[in-house]
Amino acid sequence: MSKVLIIGAGGVGGVVTHKCADDKDTFSEIVLASRTLSRCERIQTQVRELRGREIEIAQVDADDVAQTVALIKRVQPALVINVALPYQDLPLMDACLEAGVDYLDTANYEPPDEAKFEYKWQWDYHGRFESAGIMALLGSGFDPGVTNVFCAYAQKHLFDEIDYVDILDCNGGDHGHPFATNFNPEINIREITQRGRYWENGEWVEIDPMSQSRTFDFPAVGERKAFLLYHEELESLVKHIDGLKRIRFWMTFGDEYLTHLRVLQNVGMTRIDPIEYEGREIVPIQFLKALLPDPSTLGENYTGKTSIGCLIEGRKNGEPRKVFIYNVCDHEESWEEVRAQAVSYTTGVPTMVGAKMLLTKQWRGSGVFNIEQLDPDPFLEELAVRGLPWHVKEM
Ligand code: NDP
Repeated sequence: MSKVLIIGAGGVGGVVTHKCADDKDTFSEIVLASRTLSRCERIQTQVRELRGREIEIAQVDADDVAQTVALIKRVQPALVINVALPYQDLPLMDACLEAGVDYLDTANYEPPDEAKFEYKWQWDYHGRFESAGIMALLGSGFDPGVTNVFCAYAQKHLFDEIDYVDILDCNGGDHGHPFATNFNPEINIREITQRGRYWENGEWVEIDPMSQSRTFDFPAVGERKAFLLYHEELESLVKHIDGLKRIRFWMTFGDEYLTHLRVLQNVGMTRIDPIEYEGREIVPIQFLKALLPDPSTLGENYTGKTSIGCLIEGRKNGEPRKVFIYNVCDHEESWEEVRAQAVSYTTGVPTMVGAKMLLTKQWRGSGVFNIEQLDPDPFLEELAVRGLPWHVKEM
């Protein structure tokens, strides 16, 4: 029986709140706080209507450490779940340290003025969390998150040696808009317009953005073209999966999406530096975010499925082995269950499961941990029960 404080009332925050509300034995009290109170109110009403549970809501600016500390001290949660934006990771970790509470997130920190996500800022907190006797769990979404746990499971059960990992992320759904992003548009566009990067034979290899693609056959979706991107879990998996020779990340994009993105880039709408407009400064990508559909509203007419997994190659008992460990999630079923599309669903469910691992003390430690450092078995068992069944396919 534990009280949890969820920060961030967007697409993912809604799913986390619904899923925690479903497990009253673990999450006996839920407080949802965000910058805009009306977004918390919307989720509070949904949870009351769909699940018959009351949650508390609060307004907070998570960039302001003192405000968050005051909220934590008033609420007294056993865990703070950060599903706001990556910019809030460090202020929220500072607040957790000051208040002496465990921390969990789904995306690593990046500075607002530079599109460069890296774990170093958060790994630097390890000593301070360790001394305070509290735990930070990083990357408890789908990718990062479940994909990391699939790798840990493969290392523990399926392979003696792992040589190659390809993380394959396909959203085969259709939301009916000419252009929209499935999670926060600013974070999403910053991620995919960066240079690509993968790790091979002990070093990082950089390529031009979206300059390498390949067609994969995704379970339940079929053949789709995927592009090589840099993604944050590569950085931690290189450290934690022994003997890796190569790891890459691939994501599918449709032609319509890519054409819109190219035009937006060409006209400067994806710039992250401020420009002067009619006597005031605006950041083009933030203005673009205000124009695009809110990811938390995409779910209602979304059809199709996501299909995400890890293609892993290596050896077991001296024999070569290749497996694909994956999950398929349906947009319409996600909407029915928690009023969200499958990208928010596949992120929010593992967030709830990671939180449960900490609160039930199945995962315990002092310091800062990436999710693949913990035992994959109880997490994967709970993940299947909570709505994301997963499969191992021998290739
Ligand atoms: P949204 O933009 O829909 O929601 C973000 C929420 O955070 C909004 O409600 C926003 O408030 C709130 N917020 C922003 N700044 C602050 C602040 N300073 N203080 C308090 N609240 C704040 O994003 P998503 O729900 O799509 O994504 C949430 C997180 O999940 C992101 O970090 C994203 O990177 C991560 N993610 C991880 C994935 C994974 O698989 N690991 C996949 C998808 C997303 P307001 O309404 O006022 O703007």
